Amino acid sequence: MTKYVLNTPSVVSVPVALTDAGFPVRRIYCVGRNYLEHIREMKESDERDPPFFFQKPRDSIVLNGQILPYPPATNDFQFEVELVVAIGKSGRQISQQDALDHIFGYAVGLDMTRRDRQREAGKKGLPWEIGKGFDASAPCGMLHTVKEVGHISSGQIFICVNNETKQDSLLEKMIWNVPEIISNLSHLYDLIEGDLIYTGTPAGVAPVLPGDKLLCKVAGLSPLEISIGNKR
Ligand code: MN
Repeated sequence: MTKYVLNTPSVVSVPVALTDAGFPVRRIYCVGRNYLEHIREMKESDERDPPFFFQKPRDSIVLNGQILPYPPATNDFQFEVELVVAIGKSGRQISQQDALDHIFGYAVGLDMTRRDRQREAGKKGLPWEIGKGFDASAPCGMLHTVKEVGHISSGQIFICVNNETKQDSLLEKMIWNVPEIISNLSHLYDLIEGDLIYTGTPAGVAPVLPGDKLLCKVAGLSPLEISIGNKR
């Protein structure tokens, strides 16, 4: 057995409904610009530009009920509620027709964003990393298997902050639907079991502050509740 000079990184996992086993996370992919009204509110790109992908570190997962510390280096920390797709079967160059066979299940997630850092990077043509791929930037709710809930392709997606609705839309409004996302992504990367895909956010994104309570919901899935903690 290989010995290591340091402690090995721990496995990051997301609880799966109706079982005591966790879903081990390999990579976290995110889709940018996947709802027209969100593209419009951002006022930064051409409406006809296609969606695209970026990644977050796997250890940026925060689980339901946890406190998410307000991150350093931002004064504009924003939520983006998203449907999360969990990959259960590896593949590459997957056709849209076959895409659903690769899905293990679904969850509600948050693509937390340092909006000031993201906009700054965009203006300078720099990578989005600091704005998107930071510690604790990927809250993810309980996963529900396809066997339990079927495929999630329509219905309400919303977030309330301190009981006030902020984003409220329909999954049908995605520009790329889930089979199109999986097919497109699998032509760029080998999709491997354990990968999560955050599928983009509708309009209504806004900043949060320490003490705020976020309640996220997608029809048919367990809610995701997160509190914002103090600045660290
Ligand atoms: Mn997003």
